[in-house]
Amino acid sequence: MKRGTCPKCGSATVYLLEDGIGSAECQYIKKGGFFTSSTTFDCYLCVSCGFFENYVNNRQHLETIAQRGEWKRVPPHGA
Ligand SMILES: [Zn+2]
Repeated sequence: MKRGTCPKCGSATVYLLEDGIGSAECQYIKKGGFFTSSTTFDCYLCVSCGFFENYVNNRQHLETIAQRGEWKRVPPHGA
């Protein structure tokens, strides 16, 4: 997705909205999680099929989540 191609439909019609999810939406996303109103996301959207992805774009916040333990790590496994 970040390379400009949609992983679902294969179209090269991906658009990016930096800091695309604001605090209001974050109130919903952080339910039971660890995101705060200051967490920001980059949003990628395919305008061909409508698929979209969001990435937390604050590196420090990601490292904190990895260390705190509220989020359970998903171990790699075979397909
Ligand atoms: Zn698509």
